[in-house]
Amino acid sequence: MQITGDMLLGASAVRGTQGTLRAFDPARNAEIEPAFGAGGAADVERACELAAQAFDPYRLASLETRARFLEAIAENILALGDTLIERAHVESALPKARLEGERGRTVGQLKLFASLVREGRWLTATLDSALPERKPLPRSDLRLQKIPVGPVAVFGASNFPLAFSVAGGDTASALAAGCPVVVKAHPAHLGTSELVGRAIQKAVAESGLPEGVFSLVIGAGNEIGEALVKHPAIKSVGFTGSRRGGLALVEIASKRREPIPVFAEMSSVNPFFVFPGALAKRGEALANGFVDSVTLGVGQFCTNPGLVLVLEGPHTRGFIDAAAKALAGKGAQTMLTAGIATAYRDGVAQRASSNGVQSVAQGASTEATCAALPVLFETTAAQFLASAQLEDEIFGPTSLIVTCADIGEMLKVAEHLEGQLTATLQLEADDYALARQLLPTLERKVGRILANGFPTGVEVSYAMVHGGPFPATSDGRATSVGATAIERFLRPVCYQDLPAELLPEALHDGNPLHLWRLRDGKLVQE
Ligand code: NAP
Repeated sequence: MQITGDMLLGASAVRGTQGTLRAFDPARNAEIEPAFGAGGAADVERACELAAQAFDPYRLASLETRARFLEAIAENILALGDTLIERAHVESALPKARLEGERGRTVGQLKLFASLVREGRWLTATLDSALPERKPLPRSDLRLQKIPVGPVAVFGASNFPLAFSVAGGDTASALAAGCPVVVKAHPAHLGTSELVGRAIQKAVAESGLPEGVFSLVIGAGNEIGEALVKHPAIKSVGFTGSRRGGLALVEIASKRREPIPVFAEMSSVNPFFVFPGALAKRGEALANGFVDSVTLGVGQFCTNPGLVLVLEGPHTRGFIDAAAKALAGKGAQTMLTAGIATAYRDGVAQRASSNGVQSVAQGASTEATCAALPVLFETTAAQFLASAQLEDEIFGPTSLIVTCADIGEMLKVAEHLEGQLTATLQLEADDYALARQLLPTLERKVGRILANGFPTGVEVSYAMVHGGPFPATSDGRATSVGATAIERFLRPVCYQDLPAELLPEALHDGNPLHLWRLRDGKLVQE
């Protein structure tokens, strides 16, 4: 498929007239053809108008139509073949094998949501029978189902050009809920965005759905994203990126005449707790696994373990030395964009000059412009607690080891932390008593607690949580990965004493959709 540099507004390919922009190859440090036409306010207006028109027909189409539509998107993405992988590789410098894996996850995610749509539990169909004889007052017939909130704006992530982008988790969950989607393409992967956008556009047509179910807008600078979040037709926002960008969108959304929710996934250092039993039994293997996790994908994972908490003891120095040795063996690698590489270098330089912080190892250096050198730092818990900026995320292949004198100090550090996507516990049975003291704090602070694993790598499944209290996300009640991500784009409606003829199918007495429903407080499929 040819990349044209157009926006996709409903069924049309539209050339933006507000200047041009090009994607960038960070490995060659050069722009990539073709030029893309930048859109403006009129294009946002058109995309949002189409989305508003599509909303009712889309949400009222059968669940089977919606599920097949999601499957058609998955098939159309696979049909793009190597063209998609090649373009994503050039635009992101991510290895092709990694991108193939990411494509598999993107397709798997769409299929998971297709099966979820068919099964219909997310509708939360609930029926409370009328109690006409109840004293002192009778009870009405009450029936509840969840409906989609309306058109959703999605901001794709730079670090997942497929799985968190145009057809990624936000789009898949919003479409599954029954919401039309308008995507703002990430400027780092414009070509990848157009290819995937065309796969969705084709699926809309093949499924006989209204064209406004999907649009893709492109812009130079923040204006187009701001216009999108301000548009009255947009009822919710999904975002993955920087804390600054996420907070800017939250502010815009809250100042609208009708404020709307923004589900922004922003920053997290993902504390990694290493307990004495684990250190004694497998300190060196742990150090190697940890360094692999820190440097995976040039450290450009939101779940990167950027902070290690370890108790001082006979095996602590051996663990730090083994991690330093492993990290020194890692080479510099190209980051996603020149801006991200600069931000990484600035962050590392600032950390290196922080009071009481030592650089214990760095990887092999390079001359490449957009490359990142892995760096490992060490400090004490007392120093960490005294320096607020040591908790800041540095997006890239670096981590800070914090040594704690005792469990009391480790608990203080945990309590001091901001909200996180993940916390990892490396422990053996003789560490459980210590871990038990930490767990209540971690439950308050993080979205996912793992034992004896590494936080990078997020399963797309029913029980997954990729979320957490601020600043990990702007709304700690939600997840952006896994089946529960659909909940962000739904709201409950109650129907009181509505004639059977006017009720939605999910709430009919005979249960024609064969849903699991809560009937008078009991979960039944009848
Ligand atoms: P970003 O700068 O936050 O941009 C993400 C998206 O939001 C882009 O489409 C951007 O488009 C848009 N945007 C940003 N600020 C905006 C604003 N004020 N108004 C409207 N739209 C706005 O993130 P990035 O480019 O991916 O990377 C920059 C930094 O973000 C990285 O160095 C890293 O620190 C962090 N990051 C973190 C994660 C994570 O998972 N924790 C993931 C990726 C990036 P425009 O620029 O065209 O407006």
